Amino acid sequence: MTDTTVRPAGTAADTATTAIGPGAPVLAFDVGGTTIKAAYVDADGVPGTILRTPSPAFGPSSAVAVVDAVAELAGRLTPPGAAPRALGLTLPGIVDDETGFATYSENLGWRDVDFAALCRSRLALPVAIGHDVRSGGTAEMELGAGRGHRTAVVVVLGTGVSAAVFVDGRPVVARGYAGEIGHAVVIPRGEACVCGNQGCLEAVSSAAAVARRYSRMSGREVAGAREVVEAMAAGDTIAAAVWDTAVEGLALGLSHVASLIQPEVIVLGGGLAEAGDHLFGPLRARLASLLTYVPVPPLVKARAGENAGLLGSALLARRALDRTDDRSTDDRGTHHR
Ligand SMILES: [Zn+2]
Repeated sequence: MTDTTVRPAGTAADTATTAIGPGAPVLAFDVGGTTIKAAYVDADGVPGTILRTPSPAFGPSSAVAVVDAVAELAGRLTPPGAAPRALGLTLPGIVDDETGFATYSENLGWRDVDFAALCRSRLALPVAIGHDVRSGGTAEMELGAGRGHRTAVVVVLGTGVSAAVFVDGRPVVARGYAGEIGHAVVIPRGEACVCGNQGCLEAVSSAAAVARRYSRMSGREVAGAREVVEAMAAGDTIAAAVWDTAVEGLALGLSHVASLIQPEVIVLGGGLAEAGDHLFGPLRARLASLLTYVPVPPLVKARAGENAGLLGSALLARRALDRTDDRSTDDRGTHHR
């Protein structure tokens, strides 16, 4: 192990509570902009202690550093006599889950990295690569608010806005670009966005945008969207205006999603969804007024929790293994469906 950016001494641990059901024991990893989370998930599907370690520094070598950290954590997480059969690795940025090719990470600085090949060369286990929002979405579909549905959209309203799209029970990947609705324009000539455009969904309806716009318009610096909701509830008209724009942008964006794939449910997660009825009430009403031709999809709050990405990694690892097992059985000509 040559990498020095990962500091095991700073590793923190806690325990996940949601089980994913019986199956092969696997290792699950969720790489975020600041932290890598990792857990061993046993044959009952119960995740053990979650280890956390800092993500590597921004730069082109961050991809190799991530895989080195994964190898190191895998060794520490594997219990004696219960070897995992596969590993799920969820990554941020633009990632093609099907090929394991990562085009870009804004937070960690890699570009055009073949993670599938990198993992094959450094890890002894079969690896399933996932994308953060789609992995969290997969957990939401199997364990959370999307359960029982086949066509659904899981939207994360956090620092940015992104979605996981599931059609007929399958995630839509599109080389890693599916669900990137954050930079779709919803308010023409609206708020300037970091991408250079104006009126992007992310520029008005992300949790970060709500806090930023309110701070600027009111002259009172707030740390997050929660304070804006509190101000609105207390009668602050600037807060109400900022919130209305956020709801309007989101309603427009979701109306297009509903028109295009008619999801059975739209799941909303991330910081803004924590506003509860302050968000869901006006959003349902506005969406209903916009959708005159297709049914209005139910809006529900995400339920898979803060470790959804990690649980999604474990689910992806299990699925990859199932496909491998199916193929090898087919190769022997003994598998009958
Ligand atoms: Zn944008």
